[in-house]
Amino acid sequence: MDLADYLRLLPKVELHCHFVATIRPSTLVELARARDVPLPSYDPDVLFDYDNIVDFLTVFEAAQPVFADKGVFERVAYESVEDAVAAGNLRYREYFVNADLFPIPYAEVLDAMVAGLAAAERDFGVGFGIIPAIARQRPPASALDLVRTILDDGRPEVLGIGQDYLTPQNTESPELWVEAYALAERHGLRRTAHVAEIPGSTAAAVTVAIEQLGCARIDHGYHVLDDPAVVEAARALQIPFTCTPYSTRVLSGWEMTPEHPVARMIRAGLNVTLSTDDPTFFRTDLGREYAQALPAMGFGAADGARIALAGVDASWLPADRKERLRAEFTGQIRALDAALGSVPGSGSAPS
Ligand SMILES: [Zn+2]
Repeated sequence: MDLADYLRLLPKVELHCHFVATIRPSTLVELARARDVPLPSYDPDVLFDYDNIVDFLTVFEAAQPVFADKGVFERVAYESVEDAVAAGNLRYREYFVNADLFPIPYAEVLDAMVAGLAAAERDFGVGFGIIPAIARQRPPASALDLVRTILDDGRPEVLGIGQDYLTPQNTESPELWVEAYALAERHGLRRTAHVAEIPGSTAAAVTVAIEQLGCARIDHGYHVLDDPAVVEAARALQIPFTCTPYSTRVLSGWEMTPEHPVARMIRAGLNVTLSTDDPTFFRTDLGREYAQALPAMGFGAADGARIALAGVDASWLPADRKERLRAEFTGQIRALDAALGSVPGSGSAPS
């Protein structure tokens, strides 16, 4: 077994992926054709071939009308787990979904996602949680409505809230959602937020997310590096960051080298976990985020194992299920360590 196999076969948790973007490419093309949804191309090799955020969003938004009924959500949910298990030994995943952007009601979106994900859990043993996300292009009042809807619905699979997309001014502006987050906090919902991701964002957005929104995790957060004081505060808290290396290559032009912000965050002692963000749209998978990105950024087997376990700890699973998952991971990692053996240069020494 070589290092790439080891990293690909590591058991993994994914805490940052957007449900729509987990659709199997062939399913997207099939459904778009069947429903006369216009796409820029119906060839998956061409469709996702872009290198900037504008072209990415064009394709991403073109795909949305495919999600028009419960059957689509259920199918996409099941297939996404099947694919992620094959590609990178996924064992547990939390999904963002902008549940108020679809033509069917919140409860139907959630019913269908849960049905598909529960079927996949029975077949593949992969647990799941759902995090409805505030779409920041909409006004703060609609975010409050979303939180009220979540609370009224009250299903246990929904673990907390997040926020994604950008404001109409193309900013993150996490402070706009303080009221919605406060309501979520009062009712025991956990909180995370996409901040310090895009060019022009700041480390201060991480501070806002922690101090004003009460976030338990930070999604992306790369620009934390712009302020050593915020790095130190985040390091001291060990607040988890859900980083997605390959999405940054498309959206920020960052290549996978030891100077990549994710590599610098890991070396700074921040609590980094790895995810795909939008696997289909960035032509990535969780196996690749470990097996290709980590070695290219200068990390080895022990780093991969530590990051996989950090994902378990950063999940929003209840304590007993987290403990069971950690034990499962530890057993699998021990077997992989034995299989990797003492391959020269494998990087299996602690680092
Ligand atoms: Zn994201």
